[in-house]
Amino acid sequence: MSPSTPDLVPYDEALSRYEPVLGLEVHVELSTASKMFCGCPTGFGAEPNTQVCPVCLGLPGALPVMNAEALDAVIRIGLALGCDIAPWCRFARKNYFYPDMPKNFQISQYDEPIAYGGSLDVMIDTDDGPQTFTVGIERAHMEEDTGKSLHVGGATGRIHGAQHSLVDYNRAGIPLIEIVTKPVPGLGKYVPELARAYVGELRDILRSLDVSDVRMEQGSLRCDVNVSIAPVGAAEWGKRTETKNVNSLRSVERAVRYEIGRQAAVLDAGGTVKQETRHWQEGSGTTAPGRSKEEAEDYRYFPEPDLVPIAPTPERVEELRGTLPELPRALRVRLLGEWQLSPLDMQALINAGAVDLVVATVAAGAPPADARKWWLGELARAANETGTELSALPVTPAQVARVVELVADGALNDKLARQVLEGVLAGEGEPDEIVAARGLAVVSDEGALGKAVDAAIAGNPDVAGKIRDGKIAAAGALVGAVMKATRGQADAARVRDLLLERLGPPE
Ligand code: ADP
Ligand code: MG
Ligand code: ZN
Repeated sequence: MSPSTPDLVPYDEALSRYEPVLGLEVHVELSTASKMFCGCPTGFGAEPNTQVCPVCLGLPGALPVMNAEALDAVIRIGLALGCDIAPWCRFARKNYFYPDMPKNFQISQYDEPIAYGGSLDVMIDTDDGPQTFTVGIERAHMEEDTGKSLHVGGATGRIHGAQHSLVDYNRAGIPLIEIVTKPVPGLGKYVPELARAYVGELRDILRSLDVSDVRMEQGSLRCDVNVSIAPVGAAEWGKRTETKNVNSLRSVERAVRYEIGRQAAVLDAGGTVKQETRHWQEGSGTTAPGRSKEEAEDYRYFPEPDLVPIAPTPERVEELRGTLPELPRALRVRLLGEWQLSPLDMQALINAGAVDLVVATVAAGAPPADARKWWLGELARAANETGTELSALPVTPAQVARVVELVADGALNDKLARQVLEGVLAGEGEPDEIVAARGLAVVSDEGALGKAVDAAIAGNPDVAGKIRDGKIAAAGALVGAVMKATRGQADAARVRDLLLERLGPPE
């Protein structure tokens, strides 16, 4: 840690003296085939500067034309968040110089957003059990993404200390929707959990709308975390910092927690919190200062003269409302009934980001209880170990359903099934291929099992004697010996039957 890093006040202590306020800005890249104002493709990972044209490079005289698909998408997002849709609104120019922004302004919306005034209900665990909080949505507006700078030669990947910088304009002009919450006060110590749950819930909604890949690790969903704190009982909220670069749900939670501790230390030392942009640093789990935050007037916003106003008719808005899918919250209420879950069970699924995965696994044929068991057990463990989210694991719901089926058929037991999933995660192929390649089938061949059972009896005459004398409980030790000899591949119930057959049934 650099010497200028202030000490952190421990979280609980900070919360005993300060009241935090949260605000979240989520940017979502739409998955439209073409960019916001030109026909360039939007695919991720192409060679730098191959998906560009005069419009998205901001060449003189090039004129933007609005992407109709993007408009439909933002209206559907607004409706799903309970927003009003503006009957008439315009784009605005947000002027600032940035090397990855070729026009030196960004086409955005300012005081006339397409959607405004919604809310989102978010459920989190509290000391009193699962509880729902309503987060106000200030607005959802349209803008274009910027290009990407790559700073080469420094230790941090940031411009300071870099030897040179490269710019890739492939991303410039990709449709971006910014969804901004109202300030959320009154959450106390639950602020970090709520921030994480909000972004997770919003991501699920966007996924169900099929408007974006919502992949935080690729930047198609990005979150800026605004946090302020003020002494408990103070009349005014504190100055907020806006932390950028937060690219996983876990980091959202950590960044909020860190900022509360850091700001508390600044205030405790008699300082003031600067209103500024900060950067999340995944490695150290800290935030570092960026530019001090511009006020709106610094951007010299004015209506974009090259684009006509947007005026969706009420009929069109209603038509789009008709295309909304069952939203995650409604889906969960339905599943509670259909799967006979307790609210706690459901909360566990939500916390693990497993609802959609379990739904898909059930759709692929697995019973809900089995689907839950594998996603929340073995697979959640694997995700934790690698620090990834469940949905990012290289295993599909169909593969999990197949493993469940193999267990149900008796071809695998749970222990072998775990090894099969391990193989899937290691990229060894489909479950059936792994069973064959690793030789994982349950040994239920009577001849082979019988031999193993006989060997176990011969090797443990004392235990065998006890069982003959009626101490059935001792059978467990012999079952264990057979399982060991067959490297876990025996069908344990069958082994027990065979043992008892040989050693005489109880009176
Ligand atoms: P900017 O253009 O500076 O990013 P926005 O209006 O887009 O401003 O977003 C600011 C975010 O910060 C909103 O989510 C807002 O609710 C939130 N916010 C405003 N005041 C505070 C505060 N005092 N503490 C925490 N969050 C705040
Ligand atoms: Mg903003
Ligand atoms: Zn273009």
